[in-house]
Amino acid sequence: MISDGCGRCLGLRSISSRTLVYGLIGDPVNHSISPIIQNTAFCHVGFDAVYVTFEVKKQFLESAVAGVIALGVRGFNVTIPHKIRIMRYIDSFDREALKIGSVNTVVNSRGSLTGFNTDGRGALQSVGMEGLKGSSVLLLGAGGAARAIAHTFAPEVRRIIIVNRTISNARQLKRALNRRYRCEVLSVQLNQRRLRELVDNSELIVNASSMGMNGRNDAPIKRGWLHANQIVFDIVYTPPVTALLTNARRAGARTIDGMEMLLNQGAISFNLWTGKNAPITQMRRALTRIMTNYANS
Ligand code: NAP
Repeated sequence: MISDGCGRCLGLRSISSRTLVYGLIGDPVNHSISPIIQNTAFCHVGFDAVYVTFEVKKQFLESAVAGVIALGVRGFNVTIPHKIRIMRYIDSFDREALKIGSVNTVVNSRGSLTGFNTDGRGALQSVGMEGLKGSSVLLLGAGGAARAIAHTFAPEVRRIIIVNRTISNARQLKRALNRRYRCEVLSVQLNQRRLRELVDNSELIVNASSMGMNGRNDAPIKRGWLHANQIVFDIVYTPPVTALLTNARRAGARTIDGMEMLLNQGAISFNLWTGKNAPITQMRRALTRIMTNYANS
């Protein structure tokens, strides 16, 4: 018998010699929510598989990948700090992963590994094409997630303004976008006065930085700066409702939370591994349950 990770026994399945293994490689991985989402999905569609976490230190990444092949692990997600370095050990990539320059999902087909990046597509599905087309996007952050989002949004939008603490990282992302896409791209150093002006003129605001993870007082954008005609998307999912989202709701803006993106990118990984449509409703329910526990703890 296995549980869905929330302590609720599913009762129907047991692990056998035929059970397929999937997982997450990263460091740290002990707070990951992916096992709950993926095991719920496997169970719901009756796919005989289990998803586990592998804490892998940098110096063991290559041998961990060799181990995946040797042990027949069918696929895995990759998280911090291995999303870029893992590319050295993978045989082929989809276009998205090549453009973004990092991988978060790997499929093992009889020992040949293919790398994908589902973060950008997960973000795009969360916002929806109607929210994106032709808009001016204010993107906070220039790290791995911001890069994935910028490359996926760039073909659809009018302008992307990258605001980041370290200006060199914002400039590097701007150069990469300028090489590939027609939209206007600006890079700006994070500072309150400039940010206020930029917020005012943006239709879509995306927080893809780590700002907001410190709770109630950690909002990168103040409430008074936002207005009702904007979409505010915060990809941070711990806490599930960030201070930025609270401010945006009070200002009457449309809000999208990080759980939505987590769910969508996880559903794409599930589809790549199983060839089946992900049971989104059940995955969302499991995610909401664990996040409610998080909020009450
Ligand atoms: P990352 O590669 O480490 O990038 C972090 C970004 O945040 C960088 O731009 C960094 O700026 C900025 N930053 C960090 N601390 C800051 C601070 N105190 N003040 C201002 N800027 C700061 O991380 P990542 O993988 O992109 O992840 C970023 C966030 O997105 C995390 O909270 C992660 O959990 C979340 N995420 C969510 C999903 C989802 O599915 N919802 C998926 C991926 C990531 P510098 O360049 O100056 O260092």
